[in-house]
Amino acid sequence: MRICCATHNPGKIRELSEALAEYDVTLIAQDAFGVTPAVEDALTFVENALIKARHAAAASGLPALADDSGLEVDALDGRPGLHSARFAGPDADDAQNRAALLAALADVPESERGARFYCVLVYVRHARDPRPLIADGLWEGRILTAERGQGGFGYDPIFYVPTHGCSAAELSADQKRALSHRGQAVRAMSRLFGARP
Ligand code: IMP
Repeated sequence: MRICCATHNPGKIRELSEALAEYDVTLIAQDAFGVTPAVEDALTFVENALIKARHAAAASGLPALADDSGLEVDALDGRPGLHSARFAGPDADDAQNRAALLAALADVPESERGARFYCVLVYVRHARDPRPLIADGLWEGRILTAERGQGGFGYDPIFYVPTHGCSAAELSADQKRALSHRGQAVRAMSRLFGARP
């Protein structure tokens, strides 16, 4: 079965493909169908992922899989949250977002720097599927006061992983997959995929 994947990130498609390897599925990036990005204007991660999945299914005529993720910081009442990709402004890159977050937390002591990554995955069998499959994952950590490590992407260099005593950017790809919000969601989706026709 072919599934349209509502992302253009090859790393995410590879991770999803690996997790679903036991099923006879091929994930195809929505770019291959000329799908334009959906407008993600909902109030929750799950609604945004659902909008993207339905949009990709409608445009491709295939079942579709979409994700949405972000970082919640306690000292900022949950921000950047849904707006993680553009915390420093509409066209901000990862480095600018990290710098803006470090600046926003400049006066916050270590004990109050709790944060977590969240990821939700949504699968729809067709654009109007009334019973989407929904799987999510949560990864607890803390925001560092300076960047550490070269790996990963996004907020990884300033996300401290207490269980491993390092930043997310200092983990190997395999370690991050085993721990991360996205890794958890992908494995949960794989289980649902097998259990729900
Ligand atoms: P999206 O769901 O891929 O659009 O991710 C939203 C934003 O959340 C990204 O731009 C990143 O800044 C952040 N983010 C999501 N997952 C991760 C992660 O695993 N590491 C670091 N940042 C992440």
